[in-house]
Amino acid sequence: MTMNNQGRATSAGSVNENEMPTISGDRGLQHEVSLIFELGRLGMTGVDIPEVQMSDARLGGLRRKGPVGLPGLSEPEVIRHYVRLSQLNYSIDAGLYPLGSCTMKHNPRLNEKMARLPGFADVHPLQPQQTVQGAFEAVSELMKWLTTLTGMPAVAMSPKAGAHGELCGLLTIRAALEARGEKRHKVLVPSSAHGTNPATAAVAGFTVQEIPATEDGHVDADAMEAALGPDVAAIMLTNPNTCGLFEPRIKEMADAVHKAGAYFYCDGANFNAIAGRVRPGDLGVDAMHINLHKTFSTPHGGGGPGAGPVVLSERLAAYAPLPLLVHDGNEFRMIEHADEATDGAKPFGRMCAFHGQMGMFSRALTYMMSHGADGIRQASEDAVLSANYILASLKDVMSAPFGEGPCMHEALFDDSFLEGTGVTTLDFAKAMIDEGYHPMTMYFPLVVHGAMLIEPTESESKESLDRFIHVLRTMALEAKAGQTARFDGAPRLAPRRRLDETAAARKPILRWKPKALPEAAE
Ligand SMILES: *Cc1c(COP(=O)(O)O)cnc(C)c1O
Repeated sequence: MTMNNQGRATSAGSVNENEMPTISGDRGLQHEVSLIFELGRLGMTGVDIPEVQMSDARLGGLRRKGPVGLPGLSEPEVIRHYVRLSQLNYSIDAGLYPLGSCTMKHNPRLNEKMARLPGFADVHPLQPQQTVQGAFEAVSELMKWLTTLTGMPAVAMSPKAGAHGELCGLLTIRAALEARGEKRHKVLVPSSAHGTNPATAAVAGFTVQEIPATEDGHVDADAMEAALGPDVAAIMLTNPNTCGLFEPRIKEMADAVHKAGAYFYCDGANFNAIAGRVRPGDLGVDAMHINLHKTFSTPHGGGGPGAGPVVLSERLAAYAPLPLLVHDGNEFRMIEHADEATDGAKPFGRMCAFHGQMGMFSRALTYMMSHGADGIRQASEDAVLSANYILASLKDVMSAPFGEGPCMHEALFDDSFLEGTGVTTLDFAKAMIDEGYHPMTMYFPLVVHGAMLIEPTESESKESLDRFIHVLRTMALEAKAGQTARFDGAPRLAPRRRLDETAAARKPILRWKPKALPEAAE
């Protein structure tokens, strides 16, 4: 990226070569957005504040010598700046967002309305407990839904995301093993697992042993059973797995794990494929996080906010972290200290300062109560139907490594259909941006070469899916026919073209430096 003399950011080739550049640098409604520091002028302000009487006496000679250099803008400049930035961003409110594993489903506006009720939105975690009984009741109701849907007796509500929930689950397992006086250091993780699984096991102090996948995209149950022994603390399994397939031997694996004295952690990020149909507790799961921001429609993106409650089996429930929400007779009470815990609870510690994400809790509960048990089941079924529609409609032109049988909520393709075309998975995904789509998940799961993982979710209409399928079909056919122009250097129509993502990750420039501040006014 370079700066031209108006201070406008331009990147090489940001305008289609065949397009006549505009005088303004903007392209229709797509505006170039300057940094707020470039827009701002010293001394400008959007508010009218009375002149401050400065008293040097109280500053001990430390009075600032020059302007602080904050950008000064008028209110309309600030509003336009942020609105334009937001318009450069793709979102589920703008269109189909097929990012596999991430479950970008529509966040119903009723959720937003409920989350904004003052009794949910304005509570403070340090408020006296008697004043937040209604909020506690809502959290308790959500806990009831989560334990009922999963068939598990307990749930820890405080983890703030899926990965945080994984950590909570493994720390609970560690506490249970310590209580048994056992030192088991190993966690078995399939090669198809989400990267957070091995990372979590390592952070929780375990060593990771990888379990291979079979030719048909399942976890190799025989290899897993062979790896079990007195040193294994747990397995971490995703079901449906990251290839979008249900693990048919899951019960058998759970039994073997328990027989070996280990625990079964299930990565519940894909619960949206089975909620209302299968209870993980019945499959032998001991701990599972639930991404409220995936399965239960609370918004996510850009790294947060999220919520990852962890359901726990009878074997682990006692070790759930603080705080514990209990109901004593007529009143809810939040237990904040281990020595106040009752009913044999031995909390391992706590995951975060306070109690979890109230805004996500109220949205998820609204989603559940507005759908009802039958609606949740239908959402899962429709998500699976949408994915199968995509798989069946595209597998003759895009290669589907496990395309024979039905899939669950995600359709997985590999890059063998692009062999010899010179087009890569990355090129294909970038060309989707020009077509107005966010790319699918690329190069994950790692067990599939050049993976393209598509999760349409139940939110999309048939018309929307048909349009998406038509675009991908045409792209695949063109690539195979040697018409690769649209893939070369795509995206062509986005505000920025292909960025050097490696350089951005390895050598990030995180600080904007002003050219020069005006001379200090003595
Ligand atoms: C999203 C996801 C996670 C992590 O969840 P976060 O809420 O993003 O931390 C873990 N495993 C799988 C399979 C996922 O899709």
